[in-house]
Amino acid sequence: MKLRYWLVAFFVVPASLLAGPVFIKAGRLIDGHGGAPLAPAMVRIEGDRITEVGSALPVPAGAQVIDLGGATLLPGLIDLHTHLTIRYGENWEKQLVETTPAHAALWGAYNARLTLLAGFTTCRDMGTTWPYVDVDLRDAIAAGAVPGPRLFVAGSYISTTGGAGDAKQFSDYVQVPLVDNLADSPDEVVKQVRKNFKHGADFIKLLATGAVLSLGITPGAQQFSDEEIQAAVKEANRWGRQVAVHAHGIQGIKAVIRAGVRTVDHGSFLDDEAIAMLKATNRHTFYVPTLYTMVALERDGAHNGVPESELARARMVRVPMQLGFQRALAAGLPIGFATDSGVIPHGENAEELAVRVVLGEAPMAAIVSATSLNAEIMGWGDRVGAVEPGKFADLIAVAGDPLADIKQLTHVGFVMKGGVVYKDELGKK
Ligand SMILES: [Zn+2]
Repeated sequence: MKLRYWLVAFFVVPASLLAGPVFIKAGRLIDGHGGAPLAPAMVRIEGDRITEVGSALPVPAGAQVIDLGGATLLPGLIDLHTHLTIRYGENWEKQLVETTPAHAALWGAYNARLTLLAGFTTCRDMGTTWPYVDVDLRDAIAAGAVPGPRLFVAGSYISTTGGAGDAKQFSDYVQVPLVDNLADSPDEVVKQVRKNFKHGADFIKLLATGAVLSLGITPGAQQFSDEEIQAAVKEANRWGRQVAVHAHGIQGIKAVIRAGVRTVDHGSFLDDEAIAMLKATNRHTFYVPTLYTMVALERDGAHNGVPESELARARMVRVPMQLGFQRALAAGLPIGFATDSGVIPHGENAEELAVRVVLGEAPMAAIVSATSLNAEIMGWGDRVGAVEPGKFADLIAVAGDPLADIKQLTHVGFVMKGGVVYKDELGKK
């Protein structure tokens, strides 16, 4: 018993290296599918997988038991929109002038650990200022060199010239050959999509409209043409991959839904027609808002040196974004869960759950969004997002009941990923 905890404290010890199965006992289990919690709960883990779930499982003599007392056990949380390689408070356009890819990699490792310890065992990372640093971070985490969530990465996000992902601080006389992420025709989009997959991206991120945090761009303006967006989706689909799109303005939102992208991220100016279009896709295209960003920008933006012009845009987007979310809720639209971490402090990801509950979402629906629904959206429904046999043993626990107080999830006390315990402040030792 003691030996196991010592090893765990020392670092990554796969349960499979220890003799026999591992059992976790807890006061209740929220399995990620939205049904009534199971109380009490036991989960049997062998190697990196869950093998059995019940209220009272037989424990073979000598088996390892982690007793979390009255805590609530849940699947590891999933964030569909992170920027792990961005140090919080740092401006991405300045990064290109003042930092190196190594800076992004090291802060990426630091932020990945923070995010994992906050209970997020899987993240879809939406891109890095220095292209493909996320590919290396994903692989280092998978190899066990760095603690962090399972990553699904964008590689090098694609923007139009002068668009939301084009760094605009350089004059036309300054060549920045290291960042080659621009495309201005369907053919150029196809080339960028192929280049991304060649270099290890898991999916494509397209910046379809202006952004809040990008010099001189109106968030509402559509930037890629309908034909360019369609070219990206067609090419990514040929590879069996998906396209995630940054979209604030309503014309851009509708264009990307028509093109058949997987997710509409931010979706700030979502209206009833767009909600009806999303519904009609039959769970092919999902709306993925990022509401806590506005709270963090208002709190920290000025201190972090965000220009007043960009803060003004955040204030302009805030209310429509909240209303869009509430309209989607009222319409019964499945809503993905994401934070845009990097724009919010890494590790504060679960604050987004609290914002959504304040805006009217049921705590259980918010939890389903951040677990099984997000897994479905990523195409990872076979491996993560629920506590059931066959899934990876990605489990978290909180001391109280998150259905009564969603803020419990901002203080995760136990984290296991793939059968390895990374944090345990709840277990009886
Ligand atoms: Zn983002």
